[in-house]
Amino acid sequence: MQIDGIQKLTLLDYPGYTACTIFLGGCNFRCPFCHNASLVYWNGQRAAMREDEFFAFLEKRRGILDGVCISGGEPMMHPHTESLIRRIKENGYLVKLDTNGSFPEKLGKFLNERLLDYVAMDIKNSKEKYRKTAGAADLDLGRIEESRGIIMDSKISYEFRTTLVKELHQMEDVEEMARWIAGADAWYLQEFVDSGDVLMEGLHAHSKEWMEKAAALAAPYVECVEIRGVE
Ligand code: SF4
Repeated sequence: MQIDGIQKLTLLDYPGYTACTIFLGGCNFRCPFCHNASLVYWNGQRAAMREDEFFAFLEKRRGILDGVCISGGEPMMHPHTESLIRRIKENGYLVKLDTNGSFPEKLGKFLNERLLDYVAMDIKNSKEKYRKTAGAADLDLGRIEESRGIIMDSKISYEFRTTLVKELHQMEDVEEMARWIAGADAWYLQEFVDSGDVLMEGLHAHSKEWMEKAAALAAPYVECVEIRGVE
């Protein structure tokens, strides 16, 4: 399987660990605020590394890196993600998976087979606005709900995360999401940043004050609520 992008060292992506992050192209969502449009519309021609090159890289980083973050796009879309994860685990690395939560069957299987050490799942918005915020008109919200439940019932470390955008999220949406994931270990509220590779133009970040108010609103529902990306 080809690796479509790689960040060879990250101290931020995997909380508490030194890791690299690999990106697998393609996604079944079209979130307007997505900051990786070229990966979402990926057409397979721009491999950053072949799988064997990636494992040679991991071999050289043995003792330096603790884990591998697998991100996208949506990594669960690919038929070979499971074998890639198995190979990473066999090489002795921790695996963190980023997912949009629309593949609950695979998620449950991977967790049952102890292939994952950390999961970061997006919660895009309140249920009423979910499909619009994910850019997926036919999305079965039951699949998101199923993934949420699987993660919260699992014994592994996890986080939920939400990118908050002025044009898409109001304070009542934050409260509804907080109620939806009530009892969760961690929820990161991410500031929208225009990377220059965003799916839709004309979106804006909320103010620092608004983000802090949102975090305070969510705090009673979730063990740890933090804001990411606000200076
Ligand atoms: S932000 Fe949305 S469109 Fe972009 S990779 Fe994640 S799920 Fe896909």
